[in-house]
Amino acid sequence: MEGFRIDPWGTSYIKDYKRLMEEFGIKPITDELKSQLPFVHRLIRRNIIFGHRDLEKIIAAINEKKEYAVMTGIKPSGPFHLGSKLTAEEFIYFQKLSPKAFGFFAIADLEAYADNRIPLSESYKISLDNLTDLLALGLDPRRVYVYRQSEEMKVLRLAFIFSRGVTYNMLEAIYGEKPFGLYFSALIQAGDILSPQLPENGGPKPTIVPVGADQDPHIRLTRDIAQRYKSDYNFILPSATYHLLLRDLTGQTKMSKRNPMGILYLTESLESARTKIMNAFTGGRATAKEQRKLGGEPEKCVIYIELLATHFMENDDELSELYHKCRRGEILCGECKMYAWEIISRWLKEHQEKREKFKDLAIKLLEEHTIS
Ligand code: SF4
Repeated sequence: MEGFRIDPWGTSYIKDYKRLMEEFGIKPITDELKSQLPFVHRLIRRNIIFGHRDLEKIIAAINEKKEYAVMTGIKPSGPFHLGSKLTAEEFIYFQKLSPKAFGFFAIADLEAYADNRIPLSESYKISLDNLTDLLALGLDPRRVYVYRQSEEMKVLRLAFIFSRGVTYNMLEAIYGEKPFGLYFSALIQAGDILSPQLPENGGPKPTIVPVGADQDPHIRLTRDIAQRYKSDYNFILPSATYHLLLRDLTGQTKMSKRNPMGILYLTESLESARTKIMNAFTGGRATAKEQRKLGGEPEKCVIYIELLATHFMENDDELSELYHKCRRGEILCGECKMYAWEIISRWLKEHQEKREKFKDLAIKLLEEHTIS
């Protein structure tokens, strides 16, 4: 079987998750593992977070009341949208699963420069905006360390040290041929992920990194580096969870700013959000008559999968009721979109009101790194 390569900076879309898991050793989150979690997030219940590496280490830390780190970052390239919300929710979930969990949140401004040429002064403003969303989503500001890559010497030093143990051939095998700026930002990410285990951050500890499936190359590189530098730092190989790559509102397989109708921003005006939802791709039939007869196809529907199941409908029974009503042709897409819009507009309104209260705290968090 010919190997396949995922580009974490590109527009690759993963069609075959089974093959991804088999080829790269990502394990499914079994019912047994789920049963060991103190609380099972809807993203895990619904298999949107579908796989993991070494999640057992985090579960053991929770059960033994030991410290662990939750690590993630954002590339500050624009306002928070549904995709950013997904990773943020996972981060907050693992932060809240145990009082012994501590978050490390990297503002990947160097990567934003390397990949999108966003100047550091611009990414500072964007990251403030992003942090405001993160706080409104429920981040605990007393148990997180927030930093900008461009200013974090501990991480930059690690990246430099790692560069001695990594060859061009290794990077090319994982990522394909890329500008050196991107290779270097991959080493900085390895520094981000392993820095919670530095002596100044409390030493070796299990670390969980929630990511989209397209970010697995970074996890593989970092685990490889952690193994190579084990004797120097006593690193524990980082754990990861993987979520599905979801479609945009128009049903395109990868969100792109070139298709603004496909992206729902958390700060979007209700008017604009409504237009996007009403135009979203559905699993409806060609005519109302046909849909009443054959039923809709919720498995293909952005309203059902990407919006309600992934983001906005917490209650499993309500979700299942909608699924069956759709399958039996008891609801048509127009009515269903109105129903979804009621739920989504309420959420957006509440979120945007909450955001207002967190603007000052976001500045403080970015300046002071952590709030005690
Ligand atoms: S009725 Fe609702 S869930 Fe079913 S296809 Fe239409 S929009 Fe999607």
